Amino acid sequence: MLGLYIHVPFCAKVCDYCDFSVLAAPERMYLEYLDLVLRELACVRGRYPEKWASIETLYLGGGTPSILPPELLVRLFSWLRDSGICIENLREASMEVNPESCLEERLDVAMAFGVNRFSVGIQTFDADLLKTIGRAHSVETGLRALDTLCSLKGRVQVNADLMFCLPNQSTETFLADVKRLSGYPLNHISFYGLNVSEHTVLGNRIQRGRLHVDEELYAPMYNGGVQILKEAGFERYEVSNFAKPGFESLHNKNYWNRGEYFGVGPGAHSYLGKIRFYAPEKYSRWKSFVQEGCAESLYSNDVLNRESAIAETIWLSLRQSAGLDVTRLASDFNYTLPESKIEHWVCKGYLQRSGNVVKLVGDGWLFMDQVVEDFMV
Ligand code: SF4
Repeated sequence: MLGLYIHVPFCAKVCDYCDFSVLAAPERMYLEYLDLVLRELACVRGRYPEKWASIETLYLGGGTPSILPPELLVRLFSWLRDSGICIENLREASMEVNPESCLEERLDVAMAFGVNRFSVGIQTFDADLLKTIGRAHSVETGLRALDTLCSLKGRVQVNADLMFCLPNQSTETFLADVKRLSGYPLNHISFYGLNVSEHTVLGNRIQRGRLHVDEELYAPMYNGGVQILKEAGFERYEVSNFAKPGFESLHNKNYWNRGEYFGVGPGAHSYLGKIRFYAPEKYSRWKSFVQEGCAESLYSNDVLNRESAIAETIWLSLRQSAGLDVTRLASDFNYTLPESKIEHWVCKGYLQRSGNVVKLVGDGWLFMDQVVEDFMV
């Protein structure tokens, strides 16, 4: 499968925990960005016309794609349509939205062009926690966004994200968030443990001892959240992703299955023919890159050697409920996972074997990194 990811690098405000390539920029930059991203898209299409024609999923992510005003969304989707991508016929066309810009007019534009999946970053329903992590939206704005998106039920799929292991967050608060969210008519929910990068505002506060994250709460929060979602009819198909049957994200599954994809926008990664390449991440450098014609020599390249490809396959497979096919690993890479290692984790109750496939089970989901590290070449 081949996916197309378009990175929109703007947010209403940079969250205090964010270490992505995003900026809170004045609106006039959106127009400049759109001109640039259309030029980059045109370069990619010109370079890979046959691949372009076989794109099956679209993901408009960021950043905050819903920050773009309707006229710019119209221009972007019109360009894609005119380039030969019939959005309504794709297997999936997703757009990320944030509560503060989850506006009907923007959603309507996206749906009119064929977007069939929205993903909204709620993160928590706790007002103090939203302030602690520096989100741009309030609890009320989050609830309004959920109501707006759920009113589209039957016309689009909707995902909502939560976060856990936030500073001063109790297990009860997080589980109450999961319970509350699972009561909405959503078909997909994701939750992610806070990953504290020291280069962020939040990381700095934690380092200075002003805020505290209790790592001991990770396990009860994660396991409790999984249980609540299971009871609400959501199946875990990836360590952080839960869907009602038939509503898994095809675009994201393609990443985890090491399928091919184009990535366009600052720092967006592409993966084609076993090579990963990406444009500059910093906006100003990306702008020069596009203005100079997106020269292939200006991409950064990661050519995966055999060891890296094996490691990536193990990691990306084990994080999915579908698990790792060890026979396929052997035939694709001539690498046989030692039986003793598999047995070790099976005995510990972290792994289950069925036929050729090994899967994480029980607390294995919490100790995924240890299992993966042990399996690396
Ligand atoms: S909304 Fe997402 S991308 Fe934007 S600043 Fe916050 S965490 Fe970063």
